[in-house]
Amino acid sequence: MENLTGDTIVSISTGSSSGAIAIVRLSGTSAIQIADEIFAAKDGLLPSKFTPRMLMLGKLETSFFSEQCMCVVFKAPKSYTGEDMVEFQCHGGTKIASGIFKECVLNGARPATNGEFSKRAFMNGKMSLSSAEGMMDMINAESDAEIRAGYNLLSGELSNLAYEAQDELTDVLSEIEVSFDYPEETIEYITKAKVKERLESLADKLKKVLDTSETGKLIKSGINIVIVGRPNVGKSSLLNTLLKQEKAIVTDIPGTTRDIVEGTFLLDDIKINLTDTAGIRETEDTVEKIGVDRAKNLILQADIILFLIDANGEFSNEDNEIFESIKNSQYIVVKTKADLENKVSKTFENEVVISSKTGEGLDKLKEKILSMLKLSNISSGSVIITNERHKDALSRAYKGLTRASKNINEDSLDLVSIDIKEAYMAIGEITGNTTSEEIIDAIFDKFCLGK
Ligand code: GDP
Repeated sequence: MENLTGDTIVSISTGSSSGAIAIVRLSGTSAIQIADEIFAAKDGLLPSKFTPRMLMLGKLETSFFSEQCMCVVFKAPKSYTGEDMVEFQCHGGTKIASGIFKECVLNGARPATNGEFSKRAFMNGKMSLSSAEGMMDMINAESDAEIRAGYNLLSGELSNLAYEAQDELTDVLSEIEVSFDYPEETIEYITKAKVKERLESLADKLKKVLDTSETGKLIKSGINIVIVGRPNVGKSSLLNTLLKQEKAIVTDIPGTTRDIVEGTFLLDDIKINLTDTAGIRETEDTVEKIGVDRAKNLILQADIILFLIDANGEFSNEDNEIFESIKNSQYIVVKTKADLENKVSKTFENEVVISSKTGEGLDKLKEKILSMLKLSNISSGSVIITNERHKDALSRAYKGLTRASKNINEDSLDLVSIDIKEAYMAIGEITGNTTSEEIIDAIFDKFCLGK
């Protein structure tokens, strides 16, 4: 692998917001030399003489100010990037860290680009591409479930599986190669049977992991729930109650006469994107029509629709019209205003009676929502595919393996090898050992500055 140890990069790793402590870190061949120029421990000892990984208190001199702070040195290859690294843990606020950062630049360091520390870690063999992606998922997580899934990636659950799969395929390929040296029919027959069994077993393993991607999608993007119903049925009240209960973020989407309002909250650690559609009635008004079209689109993309009817009125034609437009989607009928007299006689298979005013029935509604989601359990140590890139690579590998095992009796082993090699290359994209430079650059470019 390319060794990137070369120019020294610097960044404020704690970002630009003010906190109690800020960290400025350096990585590269002159990291320790730069630290020697600006920092000395209390007894005058310079960073190059520090015991690696030991935090030292001392004085840091910049051209602008002096600072009392901590410094820790990591010697290559035992560091995050695999290069020599230095971290200064200074007082927080924004000015001190940026002054230290500038001083490092004056002494020859270059400002790091997005994800450059992690890219160096990957290039120097310190972590796989999927582990780096898992780490970034943890940083960007909005729920505990996302952190758990990110941690599983970071700790190598998926990359270990990918490495094992590649080893298995290398082995299978060499078995095929050996049979080329003994072209008798019986040998070929035995080889084909053995190879088929191994390919099927590996394909099964990949399929099990691929099947977690549905849960992975829910964890990462959340589920979209759309509230529909005629005016005054209690849509905004329900949205506000659910969001307020769960301390959500509410946003008005402008641009429609009757605004679409949406918010996100966590329900049992699953992100719920809740939208109130306001209206889906046919209209001649051009501006209102935009809102209605938008609402119809939301209904199409919804994972679950909450169809609201007023428990205190009759099931009207307007209710029925709305019901007709959503009945082929996954829906829950929500009878509202349960605290008032209950007059509606029509019953539905999947209904729940609630009151946004008293909170009655809301727990039942939440239970119903959760029971409609197909969730596999996300425990520590289990792989969940949350990343489209991993899903795509796994699915190509799976297809290659099933094609190979299906055609093995008719095709020559030469042809079968081509499919196996394709599967091998696809699996390698997960860990990064067969990923193109452009894709690697694009992945790290999305990382935050200083990571
Ligand atoms: P929307 O037009 O469907 O968004 O309906 P709103 O949420 O604006 O509610 C219409 C009216 O019904 C308002 O006066 C609400 O206060 C009332 N309302 C909504 N939910 C309840 C409820 O659970 N109980 C009672 N008694 N009134 C409700």
